[in-house]
Amino acid sequence: MALREIIKLPDKRLRLVSDLVKAIDGDVRALVDDMFEAMYDAPGVGLAAIQLGVPKRIVTVDTAKKDEPKQPQVFINPAIVWTSEETAIYEEGCLSIPEYYEEVERPSQVKVKFLDLAGKTQEVEADGLLATVLQHESDHSNGILFIDHISKLKRDRVLKKFAKAAKRADE
Ligand SMILES: [Zn+2]
Repeated sequence: MALREIIKLPDKRLRLVSDLVKAIDGDVRALVDDMFEAMYDAPGVGLAAIQLGVPKRIVTVDTAKKDEPKQPQVFINPAIVWTSEETAIYEEGCLSIPEYYEEVERPSQVKVKFLDLAGKTQEVEADGLLATVLQHESDHSNGILFIDHISKLKRDRVLKKFAKAAKRADE
């Protein structure tokens, strides 16, 4: 199957609220395969289905380091059911906002409920990078981008830059 393109700012679909997955069928499984392919190709540590233009609540993650074996993880209908009071700051980036990185403060630990590919309910308690990635990707399913967590001044600057670049590409 052909590699699917990751949509980028200022694509309006990034602001859609994604739908719950009702049945884990062949279409969902094929979409998950496409998501991993696009995520590994980029490369990135996480991807939400909306980043392939599909408004479904599906997230793929692999936080393994380059020299470690792959650790592909799928989260269907992820829901953050608990966050710690303690926060952590990570420099985040986004495959839909290429080559832009900024520090974001989020809860350092989260509990996430989700369905696995077999349709079984699972719960994971995450900290470190995985906690940040799960929050970043869950945000995507709600039309929220990491730049929404930075100052308005910085956000406006990024939005302007990407709007300009898109306009140039159209000309
Ligand atoms: Zn992202």
